[in-house]
Amino acid sequence: MRKLKIMALYAHPADPVTDCGGTLALHAANGDDVVIVAITHGARLHPNMFSEEWRKANPDKARMGASREEVIKVKHDELLRAAEILGVKRVIFLGEDDNKVTVEPELVHRIAQIIAEEQPDILLTDYPFDQTHTECHSLMTTMIFAALNEVGMYLENLDGKGQYHVKQIFMTKLPTTARGAFWSIQPRNDVYIDITPVIGLKKKAMNCFKSQAYNGDFANKFLESHDGDRGRSAGVNFAEAFVRKGNETHALLPLTDYALGFDNLTSHRSYSTVCVRDLPEE
Ligand SMILES: [Zn+2]
Repeated sequence: MRKLKIMALYAHPADPVTDCGGTLALHAANGDDVVIVAITHGARLHPNMFSEEWRKANPDKARMGASREEVIKVKHDELLRAAEILGVKRVIFLGEDDNKVTVEPELVHRIAQIIAEEQPDILLTDYPFDQTHTECHSLMTTMIFAALNEVGMYLENLDGKGQYHVKQIFMTKLPTTARGAFWSIQPRNDVYIDITPVIGLKKKAMNCFKSQAYNGDFANKFLESHDGDRGRSAGVNFAEAFVRKGNETHALLPLTDYALGFDNLTSHRSYSTVCVRDLPEE
């Protein structure tokens, strides 16, 4: 099979790691061309390293006095280190402020430009209905889908370039179970990737995000609960979950090796063989 071009296009620097970092590592190891695009600098959403300093009796002056550029650079460098650990060689930072309140046409055009230039086969992004439609990830996905429409309607005569269509979109952040009224009409994750072979890499990558306290105990808890919950749905220790946007066409009915090999009687034991806390921290 030909190598794929995969783009993880997300609102904030940590999203591509928490949502699909294991999947990106597996595809990078497979020789696929993987690129991460962080649309905003993400300095506002999880400002723990700086906000917590302001609460201390004797705060670190340098940290309190860090400039906008310095705060943003911390976030930037964390994602670069995480990507390197995952084997992802390219990260594109659009550097937008993460204070979006509505769809911004100029940002839609910027995202469209990146998609047109990169021409990914597969796009990974957030499900566009995360709890409420004004939630920051949903808002960004709204802009991403608007950008995909734009790229799909480029016309040489008007734009100097032709239309491009991503082959498939895999969407993340959908819970495995319903959480509240917005999920009463429930879509479901329909693709699970077994990330057990790379769960140690994902742990190391999450440990990079110290500015937002995603490292250490949080990383361990997140991977055991969040990715472990998805693993339980997938019949493996750890998994990442996706909703495909497009239907799939097969020549014959598909049945995966995982489905063929699944043993209902022993799955609860095989599910529990890897413990994240036993894996190296760095
Ligand atoms: Zn995010």
